[in-house]
Amino acid sequence: MSKYQILVVEDDAPVRNLITTTLKARDYRFITTGTGEGAVMEAASHNPDIVLLDLGLPDLDGVEVIRRIRSWSNMPIIVISARSEDSDKIDALDAGADDYLTKPFSVDELLARLRVTQRRLGLMQNAGAEQAVYQNGLLRVDYSAGCAYLGEEDLKLTPMEYKLLCLLARNTGKVLTHRFILQNVWGSSWENDIGSLRVFMAALRKKLESNTSSARYIQTHIGVGYRMQKID
Ligand code: CA
Repeated sequence: MSKYQILVVEDDAPVRNLITTTLKARDYRFITTGTGEGAVMEAASHNPDIVLLDLGLPDLDGVEVIRRIRSWSNMPIIVISARSEDSDKIDALDAGADDYLTKPFSVDELLARLRVTQRRLGLMQNAGAEQAVYQNGLLRVDYSAGCAYLGEEDLKLTPMEYKLLCLLARNTGKVLTHRFILQNVWGSSWENDIGSLRVFMAALRKKLESNTSSARYIQTHIGVGYRMQKID
């Protein structure tokens, strides 16, 4: 049996069955519910490791479920949304969801998202007090010195690029929306300036991923935002 317990929140029985069959085949433990109220209750009583949350629920809005769980817990939440719920997906991430799956999704996609989240869970448990140095693959950020390196090479980031990199690094594994990044790096008056964010992100990436042999650290989520990936 996996040490991870998953709370599956989905009112659509065929989708719920697909998820639970997949989890069962991989020896995950799980609990299921088809309502938002049920989700909040099961999250509180079982304290699962990961929540898989459908956004379109019959009673409560999925985003409201996230807000309620976030009022007392940081447990990872992966949102499952239909394509028609794209703006809800972004609201869900801003409300504190960690990642998302878009319907229809494959079993492989579901398992990949769970692995990313498990890795993030491991990072969260190890983090405890904030580390003075962040290490991910060849990337190293020395927070106390305010410098970032790729292997031995100083990345020579501008102050904004460095701030952007630190935000991504501190949230490794989590999808950050454009709005979240703009608010946290530039301030709330910039939250709609996605064009500027793209320019800074391109500049940061050029320094971070210029070497063809270097890993892809920053993942783009089109229309949503970016994620710092954990490099093995
Ligand atoms: Ca639904």
